[in-house]
Order: sequence, then C-alpha cells, then structure tokens
Amino acid sequence: MSDSNLFDKIISHAKEYGFVFPSSDIYGGLAAVYDYGQNGVELRNNLRQYWYLSMTRLNQNIVGLDSAIFMHPKVWKASGHVDGFNDPMIDNKDSKKRYRADVLIEDHQEKIRQKIDKEVEKAAKRFGETFDATMYRNTNPRVVEYQQKIDQMDGVLKEGLETGNLAMIKQLIEDEGIVCPISGSKNWTDVRQFNLMYSTQMSALDSGEDQLYLRPETAQGIFVNFLNVQKTGRMKLPFGIAQTGKAFRNEIVARQFIMRMKEFEQMEMQFFCKPGTELQWYEYWKEARLRWHKSLGTPDSMYRYHDHVKLAHYANAAVDIEFDFPFGFKEVEGIHSRTDFDLGKHEEFSGKKLRYFDPETNESYIPYVVETSIGLDRLFLLTMCQAFHEEEVDGDTRTVLKLHPAIAPVKCAILPLVKKDGLPELAEKIYNDLRFDFNVYIEDKDSIGKRYRRMDAIGTPFCVTIDHDSLVNGDVTIRHRDTMLQTRVKIEELSDILAKETGMNNLLKAL
Ligand code: ATP
Repeated sequence: MSDSNLFDKIISHAKEYGFVFPSSDIYGGLAAVYDYGQNGVELRNNLRQYWYLSMTRLNQNIVGLDSAIFMHPKVWKASGHVDGFNDPMIDNKDSKKRYRADVLIEDHQEKIRQKIDKEVEKAAKRFGETFDATMYRNTNPRVVEYQQKIDQMDGVLKEGLETGNLAMIKQLIEDEGIVCPISGSKNWTDVRQFNLMYSTQMSALDSGEDQLYLRPETAQGIFVNFLNVQKTGRMKLPFGIAQTGKAFRNEIVARQFIMRMKEFEQMEMQFFCKPGTELQWYEYWKEARLRWHKSLGTPDSMYRYHDHVKLAHYANAAVDIEFDFPFGFKEVEGIHSRTDFDLGKHEEFSGKKLRYFDPETNESYIPYVVETSIGLDRLFLLTMCQAFHEEEVDGDTRTVLKLHPAIAPVKCAILPLVKKDGLPELAEKIYNDLRFDFNVYIEDKDSIGKRYRRMDAIGTPFCVTIDHDSLVNGDVTIRHRDTMLQTRVKIEELSDILAKETGMNNLLKAL
C-alpha cells in the first residue's frame, strides 16, 4: 500500500470511528477546520494532559497559565506579527487558485530532488556492491547540475524573502517554468505578502481603531504575564510558564488533514533564564522534549531533529522535532532560544519594565527565553498515524489502534456475553464501580467478536467479558488488545489492573 493510500485510510478511520469530523459537516465542511468527535476529544484531552502534567508536575519551577485569546492590539505590534507574520502568495489567473510562492518553489525543488534519487538508484543497480552513493552525488555531472539548481533556487528565495523583493520570487517561478497544478498554466499574478492573522473589532463600531486579532500563537500571553507570575509566585530564575490553548492562522495552503489548520491548539512553554545560560537550557529542552515524544512508545527512527539553518533575527539557536508522517518527515515541535527579544519588545512598546531582580548578583536584567512549542493537533495526527495497524487474523483483516494505554480514549470495555440471565446486570455493576476512576464503556449489542473489533478500532487496551461462570465464580475474561490474549481474573482485581496498566502516572514516572 502506498503511503498516500495509508494516509487516506487513516483519515477515513478517524471519521468513521468518531475521532475527527470536518467542521460543519452537514453544510459541506469548512476548509482546514475540523471538529473532534467522542473518541477524538478523549484522546486529545489525554495528550494535552500528559504534556501539561509533564511540564508542571514534574518540574518544580514550571507553572501553568491560561491567558485570553484576545489581547491588546499593541501586543501584536510589539511581537512583530502585524508587520512580519506574512506568507508570500501568488494566484494563478486561470484556475483562480492561490498558492504560497515559497511552497510552489519548494515543491518544484522536491521534484528535482526526486530526479537525483532516481539517477542514484539507477547507478546503484548498474555498479552493484562497490557503489558509493555519496561520491556519485558529489561527482556525477548531471546530479551535480541538479543539486546546483536546487541551491541556486534556495539562494534566490532566501534573498527575495529577506529583502522583501517579491519580484525576484515571481521571476524565479517564471524562469523555472513552474505551472499551476490545477490549470497547468504559467499565467501568474505578482507575488504579494499576506498577513496570517485574523482580525475583528472589540466594539460594534467598525472604526478600525479598536481592531483586535485572534492570537496566532499562545506564547505572547505568557510574555505579557511574565512579571505577574514571577512576582505573585515568587519565582526565581530559571523558571517556566506553560499553557495550552487555541491559536488561529489564515493559512493560505491548508492541507494534509489536521496537519495545517486555520484554528488549532498549541502547547507552549517559555523558560526564563539568566542571559548566558540559554544555550545550556536549549540543549536541555531539546533533549527532554525528544525523550517525551519517545515515551509514548514510538520507535526512535520515526523522529529526527532538523536544525534551522536560517535563524530568525532574534534567535540564537532553533531546532524542529520532525516525525515521519506517511507524507514524509514534517515538523511537530519547535525548540527556540529567543534571547531577550520578546520581553525587550514588550518593555519598549508598553513602557513597563519587564526585568528580573537577581538577588544573587544584585542586578536587574531582562531574562532570556528558551521556548518549546508543539501543536496538539499535529501530535494527535502523529499519534493516529503511529497507532494505525491492519493485521491479518484468521483470514480476516483487523484494524487496530495500538495507542499507549495511558492516552487511549476508552480504557476498558465491559461486555456481557449475552443479553440475558443476569449478565447485563453484573456488567452494569462492574461498569458503575469502575467509571469513577476510568473511562469505561459498556455494550451488549452484536457478537462478542464484532464488539472486540470495534474496541480494537478505537484503541481500547482491555475488553472484559462477563459470562455465566462470572455469576458463580466472580471472575471475568480480560482480553489484551495487542496480543489478543485472554486471561481469567477476579472482578475485584479489575480496578488495580486498570490503574497499573492504563494510569498516566506510569508515563510520568518513566520520564
Ligand atoms: P510550519 O512551518 O509547519 O508552518 P511554524 O514553524 O509556523 O510551522 P510555529 O509557529 O513554530 O510553527 O508553531 C509551533 C507548532 O505549532 C508547530 O510545530 C506545529 O506543531 C503547530 N502549528 C503551527 N501552525 C499550525 C497549523 N496551521 N495547524 C496545526 N498546527 C500548527
């Protein structure tokens, strides 16, 4: 199965089993906006909770925050978002489709890269075991020429974006003969900058003076509360503030399901530290965050670091954690060392001092910041991609989500074998006992096999079957999702088993 087939399967599975629905589905959906269904909301809450607890409970010096989505308009002036949070866009006059100019160019470069890979593959077949791919890439004239073309395009794109010379970027698109994937034509408009922030009004008056923005990131809510938290919490450097919440971006090219949405959720932590110590903390968080990702059971090979070659002017180090999605390695989380840029800017624009008095050195200074920023929805997508499995069982295909039990939406299904003889009543009693501590599910419809399959499909780690012996002996069959092994246990043991196997504490303790 090709990876795009696999991705299509994951998307339809997410809808069919109540994880993710298109927004306003009955009206035909709304591009790049999605709703989370009955199982999706549980999985997403669990992921969010795991992040939040691992930040706040496991670190004495990290506290939480929940700042408002609306903020004073000057915040976005100070942060640089009003003037600089732009994507270069270009329209095709024939198809009337809008594209990000940089993405069109990157896609074109990718095609050239694929040509290189083909050349290398062909050569590898030709030369056999003695083939040295690196040497071939560095010396074969055709491959070298392709690579030079890619590098040259990088240079033009970088210069055009950095100097704001958008005509250069359009020229590059024309010179390369890049066509619209829909119309196939080269009939392009000029490249223009497009601000990604959504705006609205504070009052009913549309005078333009009280323009507000829907926040495009949660970080600024943390920066403007730095002193409030530091003073009221008597926090000493280094310390962190963590929050999760909605962010909004008018993404021009919204695609790949919940990978790039217009309304999404971020989980961000800003770590305030003494200037000069930031790179040490950057290394610390870079390593800690990758460890956190791997703790959910994903093989090491699915993750990689991607160091930023081109740093934002305020950053002195930046790395992305990338995951191998069915459509390739893509960013899930960014770790950035942002110096004193943000607090410095807010000091300048608000006229309020945002400094820390260091009792050890008797001086006041603006702390430096290392941030970790992850998209909850991308983490959700990653989790679904990683968990989705199709297996042959007795000549049949079983679809199973192999989610870590601590994040699975439902922890245990209580299934009476038949709908009579007092079995539903006993099931109901077990359900009522367990529901205060675990998200449990009870069902008596359909054959037991069909019920098992439905639970596999939503990733329920345990199914408990109640049969006639249960009435006599007080025991039940517990079935494990991944191995499908079944064992007999006492009813009163169930709570301890579920706590041991599905508790988030296990994940937190192992970090
Ligand atoms: P990208 O390069 O993919 O646009 P970014 O570098 O703009 O991402 P940041 O501003 O660093 O992203 O945001 C931090 C995280 O927020 C990203 O790593 C990603 O997980 C998530 N994120 C950003 N934009 C979106 C979006 N439109 N939809 C879903 N998640 C997003």
